[in-house]
Amino acid sequence: MKNPVSYIDIHTHHGFENDVLYLLNLPVDFQTIPIDKFFTTGVHPWFITKKNVKAQLDLINKLIPNKNMLAIGECGLDKLIDVPYSSQERIFIEQLKIAEENKKPVIIHCVKAFDEVIKIKKEMKLSVPLIFHGFNNNKQIANQLLKNGFYISLGKALLKNNSNASKIISIIPLEKLFLETDDADISIKTIFTAAARYLQIDTEVLKEQIYINFKKVFKHE
Ligand SMILES: [Zn+2]
Repeated sequence: MKNPVSYIDIHTHHGFENDVLYLLNLPVDFQTIPIDKFFTTGVHPWFITKKNVKAQLDLINKLIPNKNMLAIGECGLDKLIDVPYSSQERIFIEQLKIAEENKKPVIIHCVKAFDEVIKIKKEMKLSVPLIFHGFNNNKQIANQLLKNGFYISLGKALLKNNSNASKIISIIPLEKLFLETDDADISIKTIFTAAARYLQIDTEVLKEQIYINFKKVFKHE
């Protein structure tokens, strides 16, 4: 019998679980890179200030050859914050350029700007995998994203019965799905159990599929 594959958490701010393969999200002003741990880093739209952006983008460029940096992100667009939309878009595009040049996937934070991200993907003719993280929106938006080749990552919203995430999970093709804990203080195993229940499949089957997705998107061997 082969060994069961790991649980995979593609976006966590904590990374506290021992037997889980996780991608630790580092804020771009972090001090030390964890040794032998997969990580991602990016300029989150919440933390854009005029002063630091250039240094942050330089840092991403410097880190990107690191084999443990599996993606850029989270970065993206957020229409509910005070940071001017034009700066958000400029800095997001800068990071997408770095991703495309280096063939790295991108983990996207998006609030009320799905059409804009779709438009940018088309205009820039991006070929790297783009993953919307913490998705908890309606079926129409989910379908739009899938039609345009995006991946969707679901998290703690799956633990609420009536959430959008729990309603739309079954329309996401399994090969486009990821799971995450984000900043929540919960185990990824709980998220997998909830997802498997909505999908009416065995948790092991789900784990294997997510592992295949992980290898394909993040090129991990
Ligand atoms: Zn996050």
